[in-house]
Amino acid sequence: MSILDIRVLGDPVLRQETKPVAAVTDDLRKLIDDMFETMHAAKGIGLAAPQVGRLERIAVVDVEGGKQPIALVNPEIVAREGTAKAEEGCLSIPEVFGDVERPATVVLRALDRDGKPFEMPATELLARCFQHEIDHLHGKLFIDYLSVLKRRAALAKWSKQKDRYPGFIRRITAEEVAQHHHDEEL
Ligand SMILES: [Zn+2]
Repeated sequence: MSILDIRVLGDPVLRQETKPVAAVTDDLRKLIDDMFETMHAAKGIGLAAPQVGRLERIAVVDVEGGKQPIALVNPEIVAREGTAKAEEGCLSIPEVFGDVERPATVVLRALDRDGKPFEMPATELLARCFQHEIDHLHGKLFIDYLSVLKRRAALAKWSKQKDRYPGFIRRITAEEVAQHHHDEEL
């Protein structure tokens, strides 16, 4: 397995639409495994293919620190209920956070790592994470949900960070792997 470079805000790949996966091949299983390794190294709880420069409709999620890794191939939300507001961050917009309102409960439909279809109801952080990652697969970012003023503040904060990522690339260093993060990035 290998740790992949994470693309940050400004890389056009983050705004592209992904392509549905026709068949989960060994190459795509390797991509999924590398995405899990990258997400865990970056202390994230979700990661979508465009964040590592790929346009397959694939994401990985793990909101329980390695206990419940979920691979999502061609994921979609098939039911939604209620609304909930909570703070989100993103591995592709480091150090920037904002409150996002989303449906509180969802039912996810996707294929797993073996190409087998499954459905999974989710609430709270897992529901939020599914929705955040599926947004990534359609070129959408959490900052798109913020009010004009809050988005402006978030982008101002980001403009101070972005020079740390030449070429819009965030390379996860050994130092970063060792560092403890309090905030969750998706
Ligand atoms: Zn994200």
